[in-house]
Amino acid sequence: MAKGRSLTQILMSTRKKSRVLDKEVSRLEGIEEEAKGLRGTKEIESKRLGEITEIIEGLRRTKEECKRKDYYEGKYAPSYRYVERIDGDDITPTKDFKPGMRYSCPECGSSVPVLRYYHQEYDSPEGDTWVTKALAICCDKIYEIKKIEDRN
Ligand SMILES: [Zn+2]
Repeated sequence: MAKGRSLTQILMSTRKKSRVLDKEVSRLEGIEEEAKGLRGTKEIESKRLGEITEIIEGLRRTKEECKRKDYYEGKYAPSYRYVERIDGDDITPTKDFKPGMRYSCPECGSSVPVLRYYHQEYDSPEGDTWVTKALAICCDKIYEIKKIEDRN
């Protein structure tokens, strides 16, 4: 977290800096709003709302935190970026936080940006587990396009 700045300030400045990200965040916030309307109808929906919120915040957080010299991507919190391409078992993110590869929503056919989740989910002296996922959000759902687990 940046020194002396509230999360709100960080979000505001991140918002100003990237229109492309804004557009996507607005779209995701629309989905978040829709999901809120469904909250309480089923437990799964409030869980999904939390996941969508985490992705929105995660994109902003990663964009802000990766400017730090000592940033260790995915180590302490999930990193979220847009995906440039998927080659076999490689999910390559875009470096500039602009959407790259797109995914066609199976429900409505919209072309939506693919996101990359990257996180050390398990850390122990015996070994670590790093998880990389390619995700897409549309029609109130999170589609998991690919998931890779690296144990070492
Ligand atoms: Zn859709």
